[in-house]
Amino acid sequence: MQWVQEGDRWRWQDIPGVDAWFTTRHGGIGAPPYDSLNLSFSVGDDPDTVKENRRLAVPQGLSRLVMAQQIHQDGVAWVDSSESGRGALDPTTSLQGLDGLLTRDVHLTLGMGFADCVPIFLADVFGRWVGILHAGWRGTVLGVQRRAVMEIVAAGYDLGDIRVGIGPSIGPCCYEVDRAVEEPVRKVLTTASTLGPGRDEAHWMLDLWSTNRLILESLGILREHIAVLGLCTSCHHEFFSYRRDQTPTGRMGGFICRT
Ligand SMILES: [Zn+2]
Repeated sequence: MQWVQEGDRWRWQDIPGVDAWFTTRHGGIGAPPYDSLNLSFSVGDDPDTVKENRRLAVPQGLSRLVMAQQIHQDGVAWVDSSESGRGALDPTTSLQGLDGLLTRDVHLTLGMGFADCVPIFLADVFGRWVGILHAGWRGTVLGVQRRAVMEIVAAGYDLGDIRVGIGPSIGPCCYEVDRAVEEPVRKVLTTASTLGPGRDEAHWMLDLWSTNRLILESLGILREHIAVLGLCTSCHHEFFSYRRDQTPTGRMGGFICRT
């Protein structure tokens, strides 16, 4: 399982029957500061531009896309094609309050929006189901990845068949957090530290990639079944970055479907 760059997107590949990709800011029709492939209706960009950008980002068609209203919590749900199209063209129809989506349905594309938070792609090694999670520090320490794994196992699938792709997000090089984050991180990772020294005593640098990987490993997923791209959205200007850009900026999309 590995990540490859393909034109303006990053693809998590090598699982037969699964298509998973993460967009960059390139390849759309938007004007600054949303240039050019902003996929969010909630950041001030022209809605018709966002609709066209979403059409460009999801070649399978928006009628089969489902998106969630993400709230930095740990809600994860199985969805099927009865939810087709929700949130695709009108954010008010998004699935409410979820940071993780799973499906077995071959007629559905799951999508989520990202600026700096971690996109966690999930797939069955046999391609029987797919999933995507949105994990900032809150969702990470709340255990959105744990909730997803529990849902997958509860549905009857083996832990050993789960494959994980951790995509572009703000990296340990740029993700500064204040001291308040220390306790919850240390609580979930009792045997390892993913906090590095910050600019002063009041700050840490947090490695969300390793935090999520270590939590997934603690749940029983093998290291070799977790593909961490390791690309920082703040360092690399091919991405929108909420932290770096400060002013209004766009959102990338992570998408996954069965083929
Ligand atoms: Zn960085």
